[in-house]
Amino acid sequence: MTTNISKGDIFSRYLPHSDSGTAIIKSVVDGVERIYAYRRLSGPPIVAAAGISYQQVFAPWWSYVFHSMIVMGVIILAMALLGGLLYRQIQQLLVAESELNAAQDKLEIIAMTDSLTSLANRRSFDVALKKEWGRALRNQSSLAVILLDIDWFKQYNDHYGHLPGDDCLVEVAALIAQSASRPFDIAARYGGEEFVILLPETELAGAIVVAEKVRRSIEQAQIQHSTSALGIITISAGVVAVCPTDKNSHRDSMAEADRLLYCAKINGRNCIEAASYQRVPSVVCCESNGE
Ligand code: GH3
Ligand code: MG
Ligand code: MG
Repeated sequence: MTTNISKGDIFSRYLPHSDSGTAIIKSVVDGVERIYAYRRLSGPPIVAAAGISYQQVFAPWWSYVFHSMIVMGVIILAMALLGGLLYRQIQQLLVAESELNAAQDKLEIIAMTDSLTSLANRRSFDVALKKEWGRALRNQSSLAVILLDIDWFKQYNDHYGHLPGDDCLVEVAALIAQSASRPFDIAARYGGEEFVILLPETELAGAIVVAEKVRRSIEQAQIQHSTSALGIITISAGVVAVCPTDKNSHRDSMAEADRLLYCAKINGRNCIEAASYQRVPSVVCCESNGE
């Protein structure tokens, strides 16, 4: 069977414009899409045309594209998986870090807090005293310390027992914290049944007011103490106010507060003794009551 190709696209569409060229057309012979190259020969009225199937030309390219896409797909999948894993690891790391920070904060609070009374502990007070001393030195301001001690507490323990003694310490600590309520005041358990209040930017008169407030609040709480002279829990306190200079130190001011506390004990307890540290009394501030 012969096919008349003169009606095909090469003859009808392309040759009228150009004697040679290429074209992608559907063969009139078998209907397959091919890429043709054609040329009108000079001399005899002959047109030479050769065509390769479009499919055949692009088959290796499609195969290459297909394989490349599979490889790319696998790479993208692997990267997505690795990315997911990395994201999870980072999330876990962030959670662990925030838990660690929270635990560290908790630990820091525990390390700075007295476990029985929940007041600041001695370590915390020492840090605060050094810091406030430095600040007062720079600002040339007054810093006050109140050292408090529960009266006849050994007798309280002996009479009521150690656990009620602990409860009493908790109650006294709460009353002290209530009285030293300015944001920068620091009430701490100094050790045993001794407490301390640090009052930054406070003159002696102001510190005496706070110490009296504490003493009165504990007296008014009427915590029973049958083996004490007054029949209730009371405290004695030494109050010192100091304007730090290069010539005095925070240790000296604590020693002075301790000395004044001892004076308060000798003067009959349930009272406070106060002095400004700059004018260290030449005479001991108390009289012995026979102890
Ligand atoms: P003063 O009026 O001279 O201060 O007499 P005091 O009996 O309070 O003084 P002393 O220093 O002789 O006794 C302090 C007592 O405080 C000794 C101890 O039994 C008691 N104490 C110290 N720490 C604690 C504590 O954590 N819990 C209890 N329950 N008692 C404590
Ligand atoms: Mg004591
Ligand atoms: Mg005591």
